[in-house]
Amino acid sequence: MIYLDHTSHTQADPAVLAEFCRVEKEFSANPMSAHRAGEEARAEFDRVTAAMAYLLDAKPEEIIFTSGATEANNMAIKGLTRAYRHVGKHIITTCLEHPSVSSPLAALRDQGWEVELADIQPDGTVDLEHIAALLRRDTVLVSIPWVDSELGAIQPVKAICELLEKHPHCRLHIDGAQAVGKIDLSFSGSFERIDTLSFSSHKFHGICGSGALLKRQDVLLDALISGGVSTTVFRGGTPALALAASSYKALELAVSNQNERLKKVRTLRCSIVDALEQYPRVRINSPKEGSPYILNVSVQGIKGIEFQEMLDERGICVSVKSACSVPGTPSRPVFAVSRDKKNAVCSWRIGLSHCTKFEEVERFLKAFDECYNEG
Ligand code: PMP
Repeated sequence: MIYLDHTSHTQADPAVLAEFCRVEKEFSANPMSAHRAGEEARAEFDRVTAAMAYLLDAKPEEIIFTSGATEANNMAIKGLTRAYRHVGKHIITTCLEHPSVSSPLAALRDQGWEVELADIQPDGTVDLEHIAALLRRDTVLVSIPWVDSELGAIQPVKAICELLEKHPHCRLHIDGAQAVGKIDLSFSGSFERIDTLSFSSHKFHGICGSGALLKRQDVLLDALISGGVSTTVFRGGTPALALAASSYKALELAVSNQNERLKKVRTLRCSIVDALEQYPRVRINSPKEGSPYILNVSVQGIKGIEFQEMLDERGICVSVKSACSVPGTPSRPVFAVSRDKKNAVCSWRIGLSHCTKFEEVERFLKAFDECYNEG
């Protein structure tokens, strides 16, 4: 089997699993317990949190460990809009959002909030002038993915931050699930205007079920999960020390090898694009300047779901839209960049990793050729 769906999930790195086991074996206590074992666990938790914060240019107090980006996105969207509801009920977002952002926003819309979509340009980036035009005095939240999961477009986050300088009443949430550990980013400097940033560790070879929300210290947030006293008031529950430690390990590996990984993934992607561009019915939907980890393509005349099944029969795993989206509907991001519904229905996605082998790409291309000629 050849797995080319690393946008949905990546396998935990053996070093990450080893770190999880080490911490699980070494620390027996709840980090919140007052006894010596608890203090030791707490010291380890603080060490891991500080190390993680350092990698993201954040402060330790700004990290809220979660079960992943879905929880972090829900926490940010529900928590920020509740805490700042006095500002207004107007929200700006895009059609590129993952369901963990679009669903809580749809729920808010049902409750009377006004949710407007900023236009997407043919290169997959958000139209900044349209955001500027949509911003109002009662805009409480702008929510944008740093990198979206279907096209892999990298958004001009720095420019969005600059734009929002003139709107201090408005909060900015960034879904970083496809960006953290893969492209250059930071939670400070030019990105200080970001209020919250989410990520999932299993997108960069960490363990599934772990991730975090970064939250600027002075920003208010209503807790999504309340419970007993924890390391943060924003998320109740016993701190998952081994998951936090393994997330840090995965991020450390991702950040320290980022350029090397990017270089390999870029080469893999180039060889796929070069080969697929030879087929007249192929359309590459991902922007050239997007994340090299994500490649969205369409074969005109064959529905994405059918092409995916044909590849699956040959042992190649690719994905139609994101694994969490509603099946059977055209891809909204692909429609946004192509303005072609048929093209959106025919689209599917390849998700690469630095672990993808060149031989796997060759075998994929052979299977692709068979499916293309059969379809
Ligand atoms: N946001 C984006 C952009 C994603 O790609 C994903 C995962 N597909 C999520 C959020 C949710 O991550 P998780 O399923 O790990 O909670």
